[in-house]
Amino acid sequence: MATVNTSGGRTPLIAGNWKMNLDHLQAVAFVQKLHWTLKDAKHEDGSVEVAIFPPFTDLRTVQTLLDADKIPFGLGAQDVSTKDSGAYTGEISGAFLSKLDCRYVIIGHSERREYHAESDDVVAAKVKAALAHGLVPVICVGETADDLEKHGASAVPVAQLKAALQHVPASADVVVAYEPVWAIGSGQAATAEQAQEVCATLRQAIATELDDEAAARTRVLYGGSVKAANIAGFMRQPDVDGALVGGASLLVDEFSSIIRYQKHVGV
Ligand code: PEP
Repeated sequence: MATVNTSGGRTPLIAGNWKMNLDHLQAVAFVQKLHWTLKDAKHEDGSVEVAIFPPFTDLRTVQTLLDADKIPFGLGAQDVSTKDSGAYTGEISGAFLSKLDCRYVIIGHSERREYHAESDDVVAAKVKAALAHGLVPVICVGETADDLEKHGASAVPVAQLKAALQHVPASADVVVAYEPVWAIGSGQAATAEQAQEVCATLRQAIATELDDEAAARTRVLYGGSVKAANIAGFMRQPDVDGALVGGASLLVDEFSSIIRYQKHVGV
């Protein structure tokens, strides 16, 4: 197995997945309040990258606000089509997302895999489409409680990641999010040690599928019931480079506290 240098110099990424919450008017109020909170705390210094993933219908409004007020948050979408254009009712092309200055797109979230029957091949095709349009895919992988019992924690996430990377060149900029399905929205997060173990294994899989340099460069996030009270423990782990946050990303004070995890004791 390749040995990966985890010292890497990777900028931590705290990403907020809003899911189907906050319309475009609520989004404006939220983004302004988050920005002011972080600015007051002198926390927009670039040491932690912040990205938000609003619903599609908010993207244009949020893009305009980030641009006009020079708010240093990355913008991302929650999904992308495998297709570039054409008769695909309801689909959103990566080309459209790039035009809205989206930098990121979440791909393979467990809710898409479960409720929209997204297979590993569809996820791989979406990753390919995202890269073709200059977007950074945030590739979500994770095991269900059943998988955990039958196969342990790493087997399913590693298999999902290998499938997702099948069309990815080693030079590509991707983010990986380890999200145990049993931890999402349950209030029961993985322990920091569990997250570290799986994130390290995923990094090794990147080395095997791409190369050592890609493994050292790629940010691997943990997601699943992250909150202000547990973020510091995750961020102390050498292979956890940030968090994908669902419910807590909808609360300004909680999310800003997660972003400011360096201020928490011991980090
Ligand atoms: C998610 O859905 O990506 C997620 C991590 O949700 P939560 O933080 O609410 O568990």
